[in-house]
Amino acid sequence: MLGFMLRVPGTANWRGWLTGAAALMMADLLTGSGWIQAGILNSANLISIWAAYLILSRVSDHVLGLHHPISILYLLLAAAGGGAAAGLVGMLANPYLFDGSMLSGFTFWWITEVVNYVAILPIFLTAPIKREDSAGCHWQFRKQDILPALAVLLSCLAMLTIGGPGAVAFPVLALLWCALVYSVFPTAILTLLCSLLALLTLSDSGFHHNVSGIDDAALFSIRLGAAVVAIAPVMLSIVTNHRNELMAQLRYVSMHDALTGAGNRAAFCQEAERILAQNQFPHGVLMIDLDHFKQVNDRFGHATGDQVLCEVARRIQNCLRPTDQLGRMGGEEFAVVLNDCQVQVCKEIAERIRLAVATQPVTLSDSRQISVTTSVGVSFVDKGQSKSLEFLLAEADGALYQSKESGRNCTRLADTLDNTQVNEAKPAKQNA
Ligand code: GH3
Ligand code: MG
Ligand code: MG
Repeated sequence: MLGFMLRVPGTANWRGWLTGAAALMMADLLTGSGWIQAGILNSANLISIWAAYLILSRVSDHVLGLHHPISILYLLLAAAGGGAAAGLVGMLANPYLFDGSMLSGFTFWWITEVVNYVAILPIFLTAPIKREDSAGCHWQFRKQDILPALAVLLSCLAMLTIGGPGAVAFPVLALLWCALVYSVFPTAILTLLCSLLALLTLSDSGFHHNVSGIDDAALFSIRLGAAVVAIAPVMLSIVTNHRNELMAQLRYVSMHDALTGAGNRAAFCQEAERILAQNQFPHGVLMIDLDHFKQVNDRFGHATGDQVLCEVARRIQNCLRPTDQLGRMGGEEFAVVLNDCQVQVCKEIAERIRLAVATQPVTLSDSRQISVTTSVGVSFVDKGQSKSLEFLLAEADGALYQSKESGRNCTRLADTLDNTQVNEAKPAKQNA
């Protein structure tokens, strides 16, 4: 009920509370409790849920979804707070309902709720119920990813066959392995299953000294142990996944230009070298430079210039195939490697890029429009040939220089290629 109210906030109103309370009462009445007992037990449940809800409803969605290490603290706080609220009711109810002491009433009801919260709540908090949740999950299954789950299965079999009080710890290593490999949701599910199995094994093994009264200290210790076993893999999974997300962000930042989102110079060169090393295919290299871009900055300001650069990068990217690589080489200069591309197609793509920029003015965020053009230089390496990236970039740069010389807003090929099939020079438009 707590997980549901937190994940679907629309249900956390008086109707939701009433429905939850009715469902809890019904469950107890149907399983044989009397009205008074069911009322007291469920008032403890509801007060406990309310206390944990008060704590968790204040945190951000990011923290609530267990995406940040601080989530662990809130989870433990909610478990301890919710458990303590139930414990207070237990303290009053235990002498009346079960003829027990107030202290054991508090400790048992507290520990029972703590185990429930730490074992079950992570599953609800991380379940991918929204479409964005699954879209954001980039985990791709590899064959070896089955191994941690297999290890959990084997350790559970060992728990069933060997048994005894130590069995509760058998699956810990396998669960920690899951935490390192899987996201929080599957780790939490496997951990819950292991915790349930551990509790069943312990109760079956006759570990309780006195079945009717159940040895208080032993039961308290078992439940506390189960809570710790349940929280450890979930904790590790939260921290590991958070670290993986940070690493992915860091990797993205280190490889992309912050303004345009194109690959930065280092990442472009690395990827281009990789593509060019496959010399069983032909490849093309383009150098693209905005014409009279200084005038754009001078007339409209740098911020506007930045917007234009972003839009031009977007248009270039839209002209490329998924296997091609775009990089911002610096300033208003971009480079492209066309992977496995015949010379004629290289020319066509270069022209497509030039036209994509020139034929439609860039619309700014304030709806003003600015026309810009580019000059493009093309170099090419045929299959079986070997030319270094440095050489191809220099060739494309020479061709780009010729485009500028020819009046800008045109495409030129490196001297080694036949220039007759590309467009004639057109005067670069004045920025309007
Ligand atoms: P050409 O047609 O000969 O290439 O002329 P140009 O004005 O484009 O070339 P020039 O090298 O004289 O000027 C390049 C300009 O690009 C100058 C610089 O202020 C601008 N620039 C470089 N990087 C950025 C950037 O990140 N943002 C903005 N707004 N302008 C930039
Ligand atoms: Mg320029
Ligand atoms: Mg330039």
